[in-house]
Amino acid sequence: MIKYRLICKKCNISFDSWFASSKEYEKLKIKKFLSCHNCNSKNVEKTLMAPTLMNKTKNEKAEKNILKIKNINDKIKEYQKFIKNNFRYVGQNFAYEARSIHYKNKEEQKGIYGIASKNEIKELKEEGIKTDIIPWVEDKNN
Ligand SMILES: [Zn+2]
Repeated sequence: MIKYRLICKKCNISFDSWFASSKEYEKLKIKKFLSCHNCNSKNVEKTLMAPTLMNKTKNEKAEKNILKIKNINDKIKEYQKFIKNNFRYVGQNFAYEARSIHYKNKEEQKGIYGIASKNEIKELKEEGIKTDIIPWVEDKNN
């Protein structure tokens, strides 16, 4: 058995098909027994690249991307650890807490971090309260 990736020249859809041998493929092609799964056109061709090869390249690329994402996540986690150790978590009260520090000159040993909406951040900025937006990943092991 041999697997070919076929492409329909009419609707440009590609699909995998099994044949007993490459000779069988040629035979079916000549007899016009090959048709597109999508539009039934007989204008179907074997693609040049073997499907196994295509899948391999695809997987390698996907693996590299996963690795890249993992590296970024590691960096973010390091950053998060730093923030957790040096800042006070205020959760949803971020805007409120940021204002009370700013307006009441509240003594704060630590900076704060928490959750704020885009609007809240915009408002704080307009009031001259400096905030930084950082990416955050949930640590599932925690
Ligand atoms: Zn088609």
